[in-house]
Amino acid sequence: MEYDYYDYEKLLEKAYEELPENVKHHGSRFEVPPASVTIEGNKTIIDNFVDIAEAMNRDPQHLLKFILKEVATAGTLEGRRVILQGRFTPYLIGNKFKKYLKDYVICPVCGAPDTKITKKGRFHYLKCEACGAETPIAHL
Ligand SMILES: [Zn+2]
Repeated sequence: MEYDYYDYEKLLEKAYEELPENVKHHGSRFEVPPASVTIEGNKTIIDNFVDIAEAMNRDPQHLLKFILKEVATAGTLEGRRVILQGRFTPYLIGNKFKKYLKDYVICPVCGAPDTKITKKGRFHYLKCEACGAETPIAHL
């Protein structure tokens, strides 16, 4: 582990504070593990990538596509980890996961994490199983 554990804890705390109120009420039911990020030479490794995707109930390939687009690099899924070309701080990676949660997991109407990505014709939606809302989302 090459990251500053204390800072990462603070980041998580901040991310939690920024979540809509009703997400917090779901309590421990919805927990995404913090990213375990190590930098080796000119590569960045996210050791628990698949665990994070599974906690979010999303396809790891979809999450990977988002991360690669966001940090504008190439990367591959190897086993349960992802190897990115280039050096990225755990802070930056953590923020990208947070953005993915906001854009592709958390229902913007009610704040519940119980959502699915559905497709109708050319359009993609975030379908909420808690309130039934369907929110158009950007296709990756
Ligand atoms: Zn909802």
